[in-house]
This record gives sequence, structure tokens and C-alpha cells, in this order.
Amino acid sequence: MRVLMPASEVSPLIKIGGLGDVVGSLPKALEALGVNVDVAVPLYAGVNTKGIKLHKSFELEVPYGGNSHSVTVYRTKLPRSSVDVFLFNSKEYFSDLGKSAFLNNIHETEAFSFFNKVVVAFIKAGFNTYDIVHCNDWHTGLIPLFLKDEFPDNPPKVLFTIHNLMYQGRGSTDILKNADIIPGQHPLVDWDISDGDLNMLLQGISLSDYVNTVSESYAQEILTPEFGGVFHSILTNRAARLSGILNGIDYDDYSKDMSGNDWQLKKREFKHALQRHLGLKIGDAPIFAYIGRIDPYQKGLDLIYKAIPGIVRQGGQFILLGTGDKKWENKFHTLSENAHFNKSVSCTLAFDAKLALGIYQGSTFLLVPSRYEPCGLIQMIAMYYGTLPIVHNVGGLKDTVIENINGLKFNTYTSKSFLGTLKRAFDLISSNGQYEKMVLNALSADFSWSLSAGKYKNLYERMLKNE
Ligand code: ADP
Repeated sequence: MRVLMPASEVSPLIKIGGLGDVVGSLPKALEALGVNVDVAVPLYAGVNTKGIKLHKSFELEVPYGGNSHSVTVYRTKLPRSSVDVFLFNSKEYFSDLGKSAFLNNIHETEAFSFFNKVVVAFIKAGFNTYDIVHCNDWHTGLIPLFLKDEFPDNPPKVLFTIHNLMYQGRGSTDILKNADIIPGQHPLVDWDISDGDLNMLLQGISLSDYVNTVSESYAQEILTPEFGGVFHSILTNRAARLSGILNGIDYDDYSKDMSGNDWQLKKREFKHALQRHLGLKIGDAPIFAYIGRIDPYQKGLDLIYKAIPGIVRQGGQFILLGTGDKKWENKFHTLSENAHFNKSVSCTLAFDAKLALGIYQGSTFLLVPSRYEPCGLIQMIAMYYGTLPIVHNVGGLKDTVIENINGLKFNTYTSKSFLGTLKRAFDLISSNGQYEKMVLNALSADFSWSLSAGKYKNLYERMLKNE
């Protein structure tokens, strides 16, 4: 079975968020199960080629916007695997992308519409034959439509994975002209553009053979208006072919110098090193941390922001590492400069994998109060380093964190609920042995890909049998 996995990011070449981690690790786990997966991504100017060699492979001519565009195809392997990654180079369309979280703007939708054309031209070129195309998020949303046009008789099967329903790639209807989509030939396109824009996610979800998302709970939640928004009825119509498969992590990507026997000593050393590095007061204060995109709507940053004074008042420290929304970046920056929080609060507005590792290792609790969370990887990575997650009980957080066993949860998205859970966190560390038990549980939790990769293999097999 041969699978092509197009996506906007693949770690370690290009990583913006959890999607990059997934596309960089799931193909390797599938390879171990005998599934042959190739990855296809745009070649961004900022691609990380440290220790990785890109080989020029061939040229593709891709028609778009009334012109023919030359695209150079580069090839490399995912580290420690035989998984092929194809990178498509178009200075015209891709050089501005991949610097930070995608904005979902007109320029990006045009660039990814072109990327989708390139992927289909690549499949058509017949360099490899694929049984399944496994698309990911809005950046790949027009591929099923283009495949139907290019392979009218026998298109490869398409699986569409929703990593985040809120980012939809709403583009101008000019995309249709540029991509040679003829109105009238695609009823769904006509319906979609009746509101004035083309929704790439809607096209991907509606025209794929199967749809899945990245946790079982999120797969259920998106069938409701609260989490599914305008998509809930479209997804409900597709419910027979919609499933949830929890993301895993590739533990080989995370060095660990800590075990069930020495974690207390090691975590104290990591904590002091972290405090020193960030200019915090060195000592035993519990550290509450946040790592991730500064997305005020999704990530619960309003709850975190309001909780910081209480954390400090109760003798804790707060650390944030993230980039994103400028207004919220400024709010956290201003707060960390406040003399009142001197040596107790640190906010680093950057993407810094080394610091992220230091925070996972040295913190006591990781805060993940997301309003919604399709899967979330940070809580799993935190547990691997004995850092207990404090999460809103939704989506993948619900499926990975077990109350009072490996973390703490709150049920309603309110400051009151969140602050109540933080109070329980303070109580926990002064409890007799319960905190230690929970850290041991977290350290031994298994979120590797093995189980979930088997589920993907199963799904691919069912798709090929048309089940
Ligand atoms: P999402 O996919 O919604 O962005 P996830 O929890 O699934 O969130 O994954 C986030 C991934 O990106 C994790 O591997 C996390 O460590 C990493 N990450 C996010 N922001 C940063 C940052 N500023 N610096 C370093 N790593 C980051």
C-alpha cells in the first residue's frame, strides 16, 4: 500500500505547531507497520536543513493562473527512516510562507491552492503511484477536487484529517479561475462560493472518501454546534465516514535524562537551571508553565492571564513560551515587566525548541486550559518529563489526562473553575505522597504512535476495500 501525505509542515524540516510533529512522526510509525508513506510539503525559505541533505530530483510544469510555472522537486528522507519527503520549490508562491503560524489570509490561500495543484501534478507525473492520498487541514483542502478533475475514472482514495476545524482557509473566488475550476461543473463549489469566498476546509471535508480527526472526543464534539460551528451539520452528514484517532508522539525526538528512581533529584536540577536561565528566583517554588501558539481564542490564554497574580501570591512561578497574536504577546510581555512579578514571572515570545525542552523538564505543572483542543501534544510531552498537565476537559485533553492519576482537569471554561483547579494543584504538592504518585504515573504513560498508527493502517485498508 502506498500513501502520499501532503501537508503544510513536517518536523524537523518545518515545524510551526503540532501538525509538524504529526507529519514528521506518523509516517515513520506506519513504515514500521509495512505501509509505504511519502510526504509532500512546500519548500519554504526558512526550511531547517541542519543535518539533512536535500537532493534536487526533477522539474514539474504546473499550470496556474493562466501560466505554466516551473517547480523544482527536492527529495530527502525523514531522519532515522526511509520515509521520502518531497519538497516543492516555487519562489513565487512559497518563499513568504512558513515563518510563523499561518494567518489564513488571501495570500496564503492562493499559495496553498497552488501547492494543491502542484501535488496533483506530482501524482500525475507518475513518479510513484499512490493508492491513498492522506490530506491534512485546509492547506490541502482542494486536492480531492483537483484529483477528481485529473483522474475522473479512478482517482486515488482520499483521507482528510482535521487537525483544527477553526482554521478553514477562506480564499478569494479568484482561486477558481487560477486553478481552472469551471463553475457549474462542481455543485459543491457553486454552493460554497455563494457567500462570496471559497472555503478550502469545506472542500476537503466534503469531497474526501473518509474524514478523521485527531482524538475520539474531538470527533464527537465537532458534531455539535458548540465545537463544530458552521461545520457541525456537514460533519453530521459525514458521520458514518468520520472517526477519531489520537495523535501519538515519537519518543526518539525527546531526549530524557530522568527515570522513576531519580526524577525528584533530576527535576530539581532542571528547575534550578531553568530558573537561572530565565532570571527567576532559584528555589523550590512550583512552576506553572505554558508552551504554545499565542492563540487567545483557542488556547485559554485569557484564563491563564487572569490566574498569574494568584499563582505568584500563593508562592508559585509562571513561565510562558510562545508566539502568535501580537496584542496578547504584548499583554504577557507587559505583565512580565511588572516589578510586582519580579523574579516570579517570565514570558519568552519566541519559538525556541531548546527552551521548550528545559520548561518541560523543569516545570511542576503545564497549563493547557484550551477552549477546545483537537488533540494537543504538549500535555503528552509534559507527562513524559514528569510535569503534570492541568487541562480543560475537552478533546484530546479529555482522552489523555486522567483526573488525579496523571493530571488535573476542570470541566467548565470559566476562570472560577480554572482557579479552583490551580488551588487543588497547590494542595497537591503539599499533600502526603499523592503528587509523587501522580508524577510516577505520568512518567510511565505511553503515548507512542504504535497503537494509533495501527488504527490508521486499518482505516487505509478499509478505504481500499470501500468499506
Ligand atoms: P498546536 O498544534 O495547536 O499548535 P500542540 O500541543 O498539538 O499544539 O503542539 C504544539 C507543538 O509545538 C509542541 O511540540 C510544542 O512543544 C511546540 N511549540 C509550540 N510553540 C512553541 C514555541 N514557542 N517554542 C518551542 N516549541 C513550541
